[in-house]
Parts: sequence; C-alpha cells; structure tokens
Amino acid sequence: MVNFNTGQIHDLMSKVDNIRNISVIAHVDHGKSTVIDCLATEVSTILPAKAGGGRYMDTHADEQERGITIKSTVIPMYFKLSDDQMEDISTKEHGNGFLINLVNSPGHAELSSEVTAALRITDGALVIVDAITGMSVQTETMFHQALSELVKPVVMINRIDHAMLKAEFSQEKLYQSFARVVENVNFSISAYQGEEATGNPIVSPELGTVAFGSALHGWAFTLRQFAVRYSKQFGINRTKIIEKLWGENYFNATTKEWSTKSADTSGNRQDRAFNMLVLDPIYKIYELAMNSRKDEALAFAAKLDIALTSEERDTTSKALLKVIMHKFLPAAEALMEMICIHLPSPKKAQLYRCDYLYEGPTDDESATGIRNCDPNGPLMFYVSKLLPASDMRRFYAFGRVFSGTVSPGMRVRIQGPDYVPGNRKDLHIKPIQRTVFMVGRGVTDLDHCSAGNIVSLVGIDQFLLKSGTLTTSDTAHNMKTIKFSVSPVMQVAVGVQDPKNLPNLLEGLKRLSRSDPCIHVSVSESGEYTIAGAGELYLEACLSDLENDYARVPIIINCPVVNYYETVQATSSLTCMSKSANKHNRIYMQAAPISDELTKAIEEEEINPHGDAKERARRMANDFEWDSNEARKIWCFAPDDKGPNILVNSTAGIQYLDEIKDMCCGGLQAAAHSGPCAGEKIRGCRFNIMDVVLHADSIHRGNAQIMPTMRAVIYASMLSAKPTLQEPVYLVDVQCPSSLNTSICSVFSHRRGQVIEVNTHSSSMCNVKAYLPVAESFGFTAYLRSATAGQAFPQMVFDHWSTMNGDVTDPADKINAICRAIRKRKGVGENVPTYGKYHEL
Ligand code: GDP
Ligand code: MG
Repeated sequence: MVNFNTGQIHDLMSKVDNIRNISVIAHVDHGKSTVIDCLATEVSTILPAKAGGGRYMDTHADEQERGITIKSTVIPMYFKLSDDQMEDISTKEHGNGFLINLVNSPGHAELSSEVTAALRITDGALVIVDAITGMSVQTETMFHQALSELVKPVVMINRIDHAMLKAEFSQEKLYQSFARVVENVNFSISAYQGEEATGNPIVSPELGTVAFGSALHGWAFTLRQFAVRYSKQFGINRTKIIEKLWGENYFNATTKEWSTKSADTSGNRQDRAFNMLVLDPIYKIYELAMNSRKDEALAFAAKLDIALTSEERDTTSKALLKVIMHKFLPAAEALMEMICIHLPSPKKAQLYRCDYLYEGPTDDESATGIRNCDPNGPLMFYVSKLLPASDMRRFYAFGRVFSGTVSPGMRVRIQGPDYVPGNRKDLHIKPIQRTVFMVGRGVTDLDHCSAGNIVSLVGIDQFLLKSGTLTTSDTAHNMKTIKFSVSPVMQVAVGVQDPKNLPNLLEGLKRLSRSDPCIHVSVSESGEYTIAGAGELYLEACLSDLENDYARVPIIINCPVVNYYETVQATSSLTCMSKSANKHNRIYMQAAPISDELTKAIEEEEINPHGDAKERARRMANDFEWDSNEARKIWCFAPDDKGPNILVNSTAGIQYLDEIKDMCCGGLQAAAHSGPCAGEKIRGCRFNIMDVVLHADSIHRGNAQIMPTMRAVIYASMLSAKPTLQEPVYLVDVQCPSSLNTSICSVFSHRRGQVIEVNTHSSSMCNVKAYLPVAESFGFTAYLRSATAGQAFPQMVFDHWSTMNGDVTDPADKINAICRAIRKRKGVGENVPTYGKYHEL
C-alpha cells in the first residue's frame, strides 16, 4: 500500500484514459474476497485504511462472521504497466500509471439491486468462476445484469489448485474444464447480447480476456504471459504463439513440429500445446513442492528464471509452493494487466453507454457531456447509493461523475427518480458541502473531482432517497434510475420491548429504507411495522443493520413470513353488482385472469400507462392476444398506477361516466393493495366494468359513494372467479457429491420442490437445480446440510410467482389454511368470505 497525497490523487483522476472502473462478480464461495484481498495487498491501494487487521473488504462485522461480502464499497488502486505491456494499450498520452477503482458488490443474488448499483457506475467486470463447478445460476444472473448495463466482462477461472490437488484433475481434464467454462460464458453472452455496443464482448484465452489461477496460492496467468516467455524461446511472434497455446494445437517435442492433431502420422500421441507448455510447468512445481522434493523444485524454479531470496529458499512444502508460484505467475500482475488492457476507460465506455445511461434527448448538452466524458461539460453525477457515515446519522452520496467536475460549494440540482424536466417535483437545489475520497471508512477531502471518477459527496443526503441525478444543467433529464426488480417475497414484523424506544425504531426504519433500495418498510393494518425483502439471509442482514447501526435499541423480531399475491383462475361465474351506501348507484363487474406474460411485461414496465394508448393497444393485441378495441378502453393499471392489474371500461354510452372515472380508478388502486381472500396484494387480474347506473345528481355520486362500491364489486367479482394465491418460488442450485443426488432429490420432493435438472460435471460432483416454494425454504439450508452430512450447499434465487391450485374456501385445502393464517395474523377474521358478502348489497 502506498500513501498518495491529494495532489497525486487529483493528478490520477484527471488522466481519464488511464482510469478503469470495475466491479467484481462471483458466486458466493468462488473466491471473490480472496481475489480482492490478493489484489489489495499486492497492488498499491491508494490511502491505506485497513483498520484492525482482518479482511480488507468486509467492513461489516456480520459480514466477517458470515464470511460473505454484503455491502458494496470501493477500493482505489494504483498499478503501473511495463513498457512491454503498454504496447497493448491504444491511448498512451497519460503514461503507464493506472487508477483502478474496484467497486465491490455482494455475491448473493438476493441482493441483486446492489449488484446493479455497482455495475451502473463501472464499465468493466471481473467475473470469477470456479474451475470445477463453472458458472452457477447466480453468476449467470449477475453476468446478464452486467451485459444489460453494457459492462464489459473479463473472466478469471479460479481455484485451480483445488482441481489439481483435491479433485486430482489430469492436465487434459483441466483443459476440458476450462474450455467448458469459456464456452458457457460465451454461450451466455451470445444468448443475451442482441446488440454489440461494447464491441465484441466474447471472452477468449487467446485474446487475453480469460485468466486462470488460484487466488488462495497467489498466482494467476493469461496466455499473454506464456506467449511472452515462449516467443523468446521459439523465436516466434507473440500473437502467433498465443493462438497455438489454446484449442486444437499440439506440439511434438521430438520432431519440434506443430500440428492440429492429437496423434502424429505414425499414430504416436502428441501433447496439447496448452497442457505441455502452460499446465505442465505448473503441475511440476506442485508435484515437486508438495512431495518434499525441494532440491528438484528449486532447480526447476531456476530453470524458469525464478529468482528466490535465501529466506524464500528456506521454506518447504506449501510455503515453498506459494513462493515459487507467486514469483512465477504473480496473480495481481496478471489480473491488473488484463483489466488495464482489456477493460475500457470511462472515456471509451461512456461513448457507447451514454444512450443507455441517460434518459434525455441524445443530443442535449448533458448527453454530449456524458458521451465525451467532458470535465468541462455540465455536471452529471449519478448517486448509486447512500453510504452511512460512521455516526450512522448522515449518509455519503456515493456515485460517479459522468460529465463535468464536482467541487465543494457548488450548487447542484438534485433530481430524484420522479423528477420530470420542467417540473419542480422531486427537485432540490442545494450546495455540495464536501467532495471526499473514501476507502473503507477512511475519508480524504478533495478540491474537485472530474468526469470518469467515483467519489462521495457530503451535505445532500437529506434530499435524496436511495439514488438520483445531480446536475448543473437546467435542461438535464435524469440518468436512468435503477430498476429494483427484486421481489419482496418475505417479511418480518419488528417492534420494541420498551415503548420509549419506539421513536428510535421509527427513525432507524426510515434510515434503513433510505440506505437500502430493495427494502420495503410498511405499517400493516394492525399497526405492526414490517420489513419486506428478497429472502431470509437478506432480511437477517438488514435487521442486524437496523438494530446495531440505524436504530441502536434492542429490537423484537418476529418470525419471517412469506408474502403472497391474490389472483383469479377464471372469468367471474356471473356479473357481480354492488350498490353504493345511498343505494342510488350501481356498478356491474366481471373479473378475469391476465396471462403470465402480460403480467410480467407490465411489471417490467414494458407495457405501461405512459405513452400513446393506440400504440399500447396494438402491442397488447399483437403480443398478448387482447382485443385491440378492449385494449383501448383501459382506464388504469393498479396498484400505484403501474401494477399488474387492469381496469377496463366495457360499457358504452353511459351518462356521467367520465365524471366517476377517477373515482373508479381510485377504488381499484386501493383494493389492489389488499385482496378479498387474505388482504394480500392483487396480481394478474383484469376487471371489466360491464354496466353502471348513476344517480342524476352529482351530489349523490361523489367519491364517498363510488370508491367503496368499487372495492366491494372488485371483491365480489374476484370471489366469483375461482380466487387463489400466488406463492413465490425460488430456483435452488445445489452443489453436492454425485453420490448424494438421489437423496437430495427426495429432500426436494418432501418440500413440494420440483427438480428440473441434474448436471454432473465431474465424476465426483454434480449440480441439482430445482424449484422450491419460498414457504418451504425456512431452514432449508440447515436441513439439507444435516441430511447430507454438510456436503451439499444450496443457493437460492427468487425465480417466479406460481399460481396455487385449489379452492380458497374449502377448509380441507392448503390454500384455505394459508389464507386463514394470514387473516389471523392481520386480525381480520379467519373465515375467507364468499362473493355473496359483496354482491347485490
Ligand atoms: P467469496 O464468497 O466469493 O468471497 O469467496 P471467498 O474468497 O470467501 O472464498 C471462499 C472459500 O474458498 C474460502 O475458504 C477460500 O479460502 C477458498 N478459496 C478462495 N480462492 C481459492 C483458491 O484459489 N483455491 C482454493 N483451494 N480455495 C480458494
Ligand atoms: Mg466474500
């Protein structure tokens, strides 16, 4: 680690061609923390902030206990390329020194919005994949997120030592395993990437975008290092030799000839060049060092031109192995080289990411500033998250300058997610107090910070909710807001033992919901405070933050419960009717399900209430089999004006109807938050207003008459349309020894799970993929571990909502039991009503 003074930091920040903003994505346990540790200790981290020893990144106590990395932070690093390495860099004006901002994001896919927050402000990603198990569901999910953010990937295949020593892979088997990982990554890229904005994002060892190594033993390489070595030895040009080091290229050591066949003309086996020239020396070092053949190991090291100090020569076995491998193929060197050479600078990346990142016209001053990464353009700053300061009361606004230069004292427009140009809603104009450079909890003030850099701002947190755009341009639109697509599938109720602590709890909840984009805090009808999130682990992490950091009072936590949706399975069996309280107004309605595809399209805002109604009707007719006349009669989406329920006016020629349209919509907005069966949100329903009878005098058909009538008729129409629940379902990925795969399948079947794929990737290990209802997931990890003597490790990601079969009113049915339990919890009377309760009343 090297201390840089602020002058030097400013200098690095101004050399935008030599900046790399990168994220690291990996499946939990594939070695992300180890890789980051390795980089952070080998490369000059700017401003040491390693407080109290321990792991570099994991600043949260609960993270260290759990051994997983939850919160994102940034590590700025300084790396100098050699003149030889600089040959592969296209823009050289800014010299050999590089500033690499490594933005960490959590490995757990429950926290996927945190991943998006990190990806948004970075241009490249280091994807870490285990050599044996390859890409997991979660790596794939995160990988897709990276591609959709136009973030360019490079790959590190990690834990090779494990494959060599523990799994005893032969060289050829290891090669095949690498080839499969590369193929899967590229398959994933080609399946995903429609456009090629990032250039060609395919990764390949020959291009140098795939590294191989063992973070634990401190070594890694790309083919480039070996090509440099062998081009001297063979006297062949480097780019030529690199192609020979991968794929179907073989070298005959006796004849010294290259070939593309695994046997020569007389049928003698020839070795794959990769195995012979790349893997063989590595295997040899391992073999010699691990089998205490120290003298031979030292002699071999000398042959490879590895110079060891006398201290290093005194080590034995594993220590000796690490020393030799580290000198032979230093991990940080290979990874940094790969990052600097193959990942884009902000200047290069913003050129193609601009249209994706900016919501305004592609040619206004803000877009131009972003596209050119112009330090003199209008300020465009994206706040990707709020980081709590050490007092836990204030927050740093953490994010990236995309255009212009930010400095203390500057007055900026703070535009929240709901800001619309020309409007004052969600807009504040305030000065920035401080511009700071943060590593862990260490903070240094900067005079300014220019386009392309990642920085934290002080003094504006109270005007921001989670994320936002800061600008000096009056005409600027927002930078694209992060879509937090994680569904809150689980919730817990929280409270305090001592009522005098209640204000602290409320304040804490407020802070928690601001710092964390995917937490939903709400007050239930019975007055309970509930926190909803994407899963058990996620909620646990949030609750510990709440208790220790935000509220700082003892908190009572109830058992987590699963969230459900209410929906219907058929069209209402009759046209329901409800009367207003004064009996002068009647609304007639039928409910019906809408397709899964349309429901998702609405949730992803592909189909939304904005824009041209005719265009929307055309899409609904073409893609979702709606009658386009009906689609033009949509009154609203609900809840929150955008949810997956639709109100359709199927009437014609009714007097005064326009006057009550807003009230009808309002009625659905309210009802959609709380369905008739269990008070859960409604999803995937369409409500057709079939007829309306209204009092001639507007006094008798006001809001107080219409809204409750709407609610009643919505309930009646749902209850007569085979109502049911939708439950959240996880996709579970279990890694386990192959011998256990049948017992794991039976564990799933006991918990209403459904095994969808069993993938054997080596003779000893396999992956089982299955769907598992979230309701059955409590304690699943522990259960599976005990059932398999700790040899199986499941990973769960929320996958979809599944409609449950059955009858909500039948006491013998599971759905009925679920509804009754929810109703009891909410204190609304245990019996599920029938439509008669709301119909014709
Ligand atoms: P993360 O969950 O992705 O952050 O993974 P960690 O870095 O915490 O690593 C998970 C486990 O794998 C730890 O026990 C590490 O010691 C181990 N590990 C990481 N890298 C390697 C490696 O290259 N080889 C071996 N054998 N183990 C590794
Ligand atoms: Mg970790």
